[in-house]
Amino acid sequence: MESTNKTMAVFLEKLGEVIDLRAANAVLQWDQEIHMPPKGAPARGRQLATLSALDHRLFTSPEMKRLIEDLQGDTTLDEDETAQVRETAYDLERATKLPEAFVETFAQERSKAYEAWVKARAESDFKLFQPHLEKIVELLRKKADYFGYADSPYDALLEDYERGMTARELRRIFGGLVKDQRALLQQIQAAPTPPESAWMEQEWDTEAQWALSLRVLGDMGYDFEAGRQDRSVHPFTTNFDLFDVRVTTRIDPRNPFSGLMGSIHEGGHALYEQGFDPKDQRTTLAQAPSLGIHESQSRLWEIMIGQSLPFWRHYTPVLQSTHAGQLDGLTPEEVYRRVNTVTPSCIRVEADECTYNLHIVLRFELELALIEGSLQVADLPEAWNEKMQHYLGLTPPDDAQGCLQDIHWSFGYMGYFPTYALGNLYAAQLIESIQETIPGLWEQIASGEFTALLAWLRENVHRHGRRLQTGEILRKATGKAPDASAYLAHLRTKYGKLYGFK
Ligand code: ZN
Repeated sequence: MESTNKTMAVFLEKLGEVIDLRAANAVLQWDQEIHMPPKGAPARGRQLATLSALDHRLFTSPEMKRLIEDLQGDTTLDEDETAQVRETAYDLERATKLPEAFVETFAQERSKAYEAWVKARAESDFKLFQPHLEKIVELLRKKADYFGYADSPYDALLEDYERGMTARELRRIFGGLVKDQRALLQQIQAAPTPPESAWMEQEWDTEAQWALSLRVLGDMGYDFEAGRQDRSVHPFTTNFDLFDVRVTTRIDPRNPFSGLMGSIHEGGHALYEQGFDPKDQRTTLAQAPSLGIHESQSRLWEIMIGQSLPFWRHYTPVLQSTHAGQLDGLTPEEVYRRVNTVTPSCIRVEADECTYNLHIVLRFELELALIEGSLQVADLPEAWNEKMQHYLGLTPPDDAQGCLQDIHWSFGYMGYFPTYALGNLYAAQLIESIQETIPGLWEQIASGEFTALLAWLRENVHRHGRRLQTGEILRKATGKAPDASAYLAHLRTKYGKLYGFK
């Protein structure tokens, strides 16, 4: 972005320096996950801390504040410039609301809590984690007080991940979701079990899997001239610029779908970031407005497309050719049934699309109660197990597979989990509209053709960056506010057919 307004030009240059520092930080983090030898860890920790401190100092400098104040009163700015200033001012306000002493204490407690959590989970002993989680909850309440809130302290925390969303609104959205999703799950469990996929029980060549994942990414429209894929323990997407957006996946020799679905999921995130408007490069606008809308892009590709029958009509023969001789006679229907098998599990990251949101609602209700003070940390394991029984009909065998399974709370992330479920709901809303505007969508998918789909996403979601808020993007693209009905309709149609009760 360039400007003829002199103050604006200076502001964009200062902002650009901050964004360069953040990109450098991201490169170091990516390297830490992908290439760094173990002994490099302490030095890397220092380097990341130094860059973060520099970024914070530059971003919150008196000069930056003055530039923003001047520009906020400037009536000659065009629409893009106004958005640029408004969004950066928002970030600056968030960045300066917490006293430095608090930020430091929080960072220290988080790293202690993380260490305690690793040990507690390994030994499945909640007592080891409990005092640390109590401290985290106390600090998060304090954090909410610093930010301020109208209704619930949880809202102030949620703002970091899903801007504009509130606990009250989440209760409404999830309330509409839970009852139907539980009922559907019970119907599925009562239906006859689908035939076993004996063909899964074989060794899946990892190089062939890797090649297939690259091919699918390319077919989706991922630009390898502006990105790359590597292997990592946990798949992720990162970007250093909209022309350098990288993804990772992990390959499992016993399951050909986990790596592929990881690539498709991260590919969905990456297409979003490659799709920001090039004129927003090196500015605040080249970002997603929330984690939920970001997740909607990954889930749309992974679940709505990658786990659809038309997709497998095209890719079953491809899978057969990449694993020559291993899959003779396999039909698209068999693959489709296998990738959509519903198996309730105590573990969130293993959950299928029929149970995933229930895991999230459980976490949302518990963290909300912790922050609002209606649940004590000491009572968490019991409350967790009760809800697990209520929502999924399962009782975790131990706390490691219960309330200790996720890393998030040890990091001090409360308000984060709901964005996963919101991503699913937004994805369903979007695909509903896409089907209406692209009548031949599923025929295109069945021939491995994603151009029209990507163009729609670029036009209606990606290019906006942070110009629009999440709710505005959805309303403009779908005509509706965030809501669970499209997702529920999607589940009912799909699983009704798969399990033969509709
Ligand atoms: Zn994701």
